[in-house]
Amino acid sequence: MSVDVLAIGAHPDDVELGVGGLLHKLVSRGKSVAVLDLTQGELGTRGTPEQRLREAQEASRLLGIAARDNAGLPDGAIANTAEQQRRLIPFIREYRPQVILAPMSVDRHPDHHAAHRLVLDANYLAGLERIDTGQARHRATHLYYYHPYAESAMPTFIVDISEHFEAKMAAVRAHESQFYNPNGTEPETYISSKAFWESIEKRAAYWGSRINAAYGEALYADGPVRLDLLPE
Ligand SMILES: [Zn+2]
Repeated sequence: MSVDVLAIGAHPDDVELGVGGLLHKLVSRGKSVAVLDLTQGELGTRGTPEQRLREAQEASRLLGIAARDNAGLPDGAIANTAEQQRRLIPFIREYRPQVILAPMSVDRHPDHHAAHRLVLDANYLAGLERIDTGQARHRATHLYYYHPYAESAMPTFIVDISEHFEAKMAAVRAHESQFYNPNGTEPETYISSKAFWESIEKRAAYWGSRINAAYGEALYADGPVRLDLLPE
């Protein structure tokens, strides 16, 4: 199956935290979207890989994602190696996206940081005929980047997700083993704290405020972004 957009995250909740609103907006505008989680998040303090897989499927259903896969790379050990590049290439060739959304670099989580360069290089290599996976070669034309937790610098652009913020939060909430739950019994972590849960809305409201919208999501590009006309 081919899709318009492939969103790639290091862990099963990264794409929802970074671009969940944008994914829902894309689907609502008729674009097809697939998600690839690079790891099962098996190093996470809370939840099991099986539980996290179920949660990711439920989040996808809420966002209208056409397909979601897991590359099975090692949590905590994502690295831009030839072996991990070869694991990614078949997914890029299977989904044949025009646009890939990937983690941004300079991120305090080493997996997010490493995933940035890994996706960039795998996308390039996926376009080479002589890397044989039994599939037609394919290279996405555009790559844009997001941070799952917090921006490291001023973004290249901000997408207005005001109409899609509730859908984003519902999809984040679907990862119920990971986030704030006052009745939960699992040990508290940074992202399961009440402060982190509240920061998701504050962050979207902050980026929204920078473009005079209720909520926004921040993205980065490698160079200038083409526009048809001036933004309004
Ligand atoms: Zn992550």
